[in-house]
Parts: sequence; structure tokens; C-alpha cells
Amino acid sequence: MKKIKTGVIGVGYLGNFHAQKYRDMDDTELVGVFDTSAARAQEIADLCHTTPFTDYHELIKQVEAVSIVTPTTFHHQVGMDCLRAGLDVMMEKPITVTLQEADELVALAEQKGCILQVGHLERFNPGILAMEHYLKSPIYIQSDRLNRYNPRGNDVDVVLDLMIHDIDIIRSIAKSPLKTINTLGASVVTSSTDVATAQLIFENGCSATVTASRIAKQDLRQITIHQEGGSISVDYTKKDITFTERQPDLDARGYPIEESMHLPFPHQGDAILAELRHFIGCVRDRSKPKVSGEEGRQALAIALEVVQQIRRQRG
Ligand code: NAD
Repeated sequence: MKKIKTGVIGVGYLGNFHAQKYRDMDDTELVGVFDTSAARAQEIADLCHTTPFTDYHELIKQVEAVSIVTPTTFHHQVGMDCLRAGLDVMMEKPITVTLQEADELVALAEQKGCILQVGHLERFNPGILAMEHYLKSPIYIQSDRLNRYNPRGNDVDVVLDLMIHDIDIIRSIAKSPLKTINTLGASVVTSSTDVATAQLIFENGCSATVTASRIAKQDLRQITIHQEGGSISVDYTKKDITFTERQPDLDARGYPIEESMHLPFPHQGDAILAELRHFIGCVRDRSKPKVSGEEGRQALAIALEVVQQIRRQRG
């Protein structure tokens, strides 16, 4: 099978993993990496037995598909350059900082016939994939993503950095247009929002509460979906999936009759590898990615509404 020629632009914390996956996949050739830090590009090129480029315009002339893993503020500029060159693009999340930028990327990808996938990695999380099997009709979703402080990613606020993962997952579960958003948020350590809660109410009646923090004392990542006949919970931190079935009637004392079982958490899964394999599969057979540019744009639209409501409340 012909190998797809790939490159990675931005090889910091996450771009390093993209480069390693392309290095290791059987059907890709990692042609090179670029980073504005020449020392970092050299380090990752050495690790991945590839070429460090000092100008990404040179790298994009030599590849068919590229991962863009720069800070979010550069996604639009680098993405437009890659799409203009006719490359298929795996864009890290959030797709861009503004909706106008996202629209331009989506439109250019469409016009050029290029694949545009957005890095909402949690869609490939083995716990989420296992949970999907038990989903029926969600009524209420509760999601928490609490991280200890880390200076990385702080070029955008906590909603665009962390909450957007859960907004994307919740959108994909609710499968309905959004009707109403209510928010709360505060800036505590940085000058932008560090902790936020949003209530999302969808047109089909499903509602969700989602909290994200980057100033937590302990990491916590969990989602619970209440649905007809029971609930399903995924605790990514403890690696536990609990499926609860509830009888339609209450017991003689008025309590719900429930039976819970812990499902095995699929430890083997490598979400970044699954995500990039999916991207390369789409590049090969020209199919629409599971998280397309349009899906990334829709998650961004909700996230930006959350950001704006919080700003208005804070005055
Ligand atoms: P990082 O700061 O560790 O790495 C960014 C790298 O990009 C640095 O090495 C920097 O030197 C380089 N860089 C800066 N400007 C550049 C430019 N114009 N061109 C090329 N390289 C440039 O950040 P990170 O944590 O790796 O995050 C990068 C992106 O990945 C962000 O958009 C972030 O939101 C996203 N991210 C996604 C996930 C996920 O779960 N999907 C997780 C972490 C980060």
C-alpha cells in the first residue's frame, strides 16, 4: 500500500505524539516536522528519524496530509496555508479562535476537496467508545473536567481549552440543535476564565450541565448520562464505566429498583493513534471524518457563546 506522506506543524506537548504516531504507522511516511522553536523541531525530528524544517511552507510542498498542533491562535493562518496548497488537514482543537476563521477553513476545505478533521480526541477515548454501545435516549447529562493548574494551553480560556471537549461529546450524544445556554464562570489565576459551568438545553428536551476547571486541587474527569431506563457513567480518572438499569416501577418503600454493573474499561486503546488512523483512513478513501471541520465549528460556536455569556456577566 502506498504510504501517505505526512508532516506535523507545531511539535510541542501534543504535536510530539502526532509525530510519533505517523512515524510508527505502517501506511504513513513522516516527511518532516516544523516548529517555531528550531531546537524543538530538531529534538522531535531526531526522536522520529525525520527532517526538521525551518519554514513550514517548504514542508507543505512535500506532504499530502498534515497535523496542525500549534497554539490555537495560529490554527487559522497555518490551516489556510495548508488547505490552499491542497493538503488534507488534521487540525487540533479548538478548530480556531473565532467562528469567522472556522467558516473560512471549512469553506476552503470544501472548495479544495480536502479532508478537514478536528482533534476532538475524546470521541476516540476508549471509555467513550465503550459507553456509546449502551446509549439509548439521553435525558440529562452531567459532565466534569477538573484539571490542576498547568501553564500550557492558557493562550485561550478554560472553555476553549477544556470545556470544548465535553461540549463536543455532549453535542454528539444529544443529537439535537441547542436551544438555551446558561453559564457561570470566573477568572481566578489567569486574566481569562479559569473555571466555568454551563447548562445546555437542547431542542429535543435533553439537557446537560458541564463544568471545566484548570485550577482544581485534584484532576477529575467524568460524565454521567441519565437516560430512559437507567444511566451510564464514565469516570476517566478512575477508569470505571458503570451501567445502571432501572425498573419502571418503584419498590414498596418508594425507592427506584436499580441494578448496576461495572463494565471493563478498555485499557488497551490509544486514542491519539485511533484518531490519526481514522484521519489517514479518510485521506485514503476520501470519506468524511467522524469529527469534521463543520463539527469542530459547531462545538466552537457553543463554546464561544459560553465565553461571551460569562464575559457579559463579569462586566
Ligand atoms: P505546546 O505549547 O506544548 O506546543 C505548541 C508548539 O507549537 C510549541 O512547540 C511552539 O514552539 C510551537 N509553535 C508556536 N507557534 C507556532 C507556529 N506559528 N508554527 C509552528 N509551531 C508553532 O501546546 P500543546 O499543548 O501541544 O497544544 C497545541 C494545540 O493542541 C493547541 O491548539 C491545543 O488546544 C491542542 N491540544 C489538544 C489536546 C487534545 O486533547 N486534543 C490536548 C492538548 C493540546
